[in-house]
Amino acid sequence: MECCQLLKDGVSSALPFERVLAVGYYDGPTEGFSECAMCRRCYYFKKLAWDESQDIRIFAFTPLNLDLAEIVRKSNIQPSWEFPIFLVPN
Ligand SMILES: [Zn+2]
Repeated sequence: MECCQLLKDGVSSALPFERVLAVGYYDGPTEGFSECAMCRRCYYFKKLAWDESQDIRIFAFTPLNLDLAEIVRKSNIQPSWEFPIFLVPN
């Protein structure tokens, strides 16, 4: 796994994201927070578009000044990281 900074530079196509806190989900996360497995930088992401079969998805990622643990604390939720994706209940 490589750092998210390589994605920004267009050097790598491997996704560095490990744990996902999803606040939107449709056959996969559509909106939420994730962190880079290497540098732990946290991002907010949101699906912008998908193809007709919804298999190819385009996301916007915004780096945050919070880490994922801080977001979890402020959200007052207790995610299970048994799976890399935790869907926040409504
Ligand atoms: Zn990184």
